[in-house]
Amino acid sequence: MSLKREAPPTAGLPLRAADLLPTSGSDLGAALARFLQVPAVQVTCSGTAALVVALKALHARAPQRREVVLPAYTCPLVAMAVAHCRLTVRLCDLQPGGIDLCPAALTALCGPRTLAVLPTHLGGRVADAAPARALAHAAGAWVVEDAAQALGARVGGHCIGTGSDVVFFSLAVGKGLTLFEGGALVVADPTLREDCRRIAREIAPFRLGWELRRSLELLGYAALYRPDGLRWVYGRSLRRALARGDLVEAAGDDFGPGIALHAVGRWRQAVGVQALARLPAWLASGTEQARERAARLRAIAGLAVLGDSPTVCGARGVWPVLLLLLPDRARRDAALQALWGAGVGAGLPFVHALPDYARYRALLTQAAEDPLPNSRDFAGRVLSLGNSPWLHEAQFDAICAVLRRCCA
Ligand SMILES: *Cc1c(COP(=O)(O)O)cnc(C)c1O
Repeated sequence: MSLKREAPPTAGLPLRAADLLPTSGSDLGAALARFLQVPAVQVTCSGTAALVVALKALHARAPQRREVVLPAYTCPLVAMAVAHCRLTVRLCDLQPGGIDLCPAALTALCGPRTLAVLPTHLGGRVADAAPARALAHAAGAWVVEDAAQALGARVGGHCIGTGSDVVFFSLAVGKGLTLFEGGALVVADPTLREDCRRIAREIAPFRLGWELRRSLELLGYAALYRPDGLRWVYGRSLRRALARGDLVEAAGDDFGPGIALHAVGRWRQAVGVQALARLPAWLASGTEQARERAARLRAIAGLAVLGDSPTVCGARGVWPVLLLLLPDRARRDAALQALWGAGVGAGLPFVHALPDYARYRALLTQAAEDPLPNSRDFAGRVLSLGNSPWLHEAQFDAICAVLRRCCA
């Protein structure tokens, strides 16, 4: 496969030159609130920062509750946010072959020490948050939906996360709409919402150095997020990491120790406002492409394509990626061997279930012998395929051929 063009690992919304000379205001929170049809959106410097703010606000309300329940297969930044707040990570196994939290495991985890439960809409897929709501609320805890990868997903005509206490989105590079790094926080209760705004003012003030750095990074994204630019800023370092056998770096799971906390400046917000105007059409065409491609992938014997949770009524997720499940780890690894680094946007969402990263072990206090069988099975069988329009039909055909051979 040609490496002149590099398909991105996710369907990030490209910027246009006109976005960089914004004319339509800089209140990204208000623009996102209109887009999501929610009363208010708080813009933060990352999805992780949004979670830190929410957890701090909740913990202030219930200081005796220190445990935060996460899916055992999720972004390591989520565990870092919990640890940053000096709270305790409790890992919940997934349902077999999916991203929903296992209700039996969740029942065992929820109690008087639980602060929050985080159902996670991995890869834009709508997970079923209802069991988490029932169990968490019965235990006096809150539900924070992690929709970092699901900006624009709807459930029954409402913004994803409606009915839960908090939902947050990521505006990081590669997650759809981007400020290079950014986040969006939606809080149902107005008093809690005000608490979150106050906490953000305290812990995440404007910092000129960070804003200059992120602004330059956003300019770099605008310039190089193109099929012929991605090779330089993404493909080359990916292939170098793969050549070294460093899968954690290849997947972008190699996070530094600290969490940056600062406000988002007006220029970057204004760029976001401009780009947001194109997001609905972008998501719609992504959905159409994903529907066609998922149907072709599902025709491959042994291959599963993750859909929205079948127990959620009126779920309409978004499609930054197609998440595939191969029959077993050996076949998944064979497919990865052929596709990862081949410039077609294939890879892993995250390399491991959280306890299996050596570098994040200190974040977890849970006994390492917890089997978490479904999360580990998922980590071993999943493969992510970017749903960018830059992935041409010929490349997609070639991917299907590899998957057919690997699943046979
Ligand atoms: C990326 C991601 C986050 C963190 O968002 P950032 O904006 O990168 O801080 C949290 N949860 C999930 C599932 C993610 O994919």
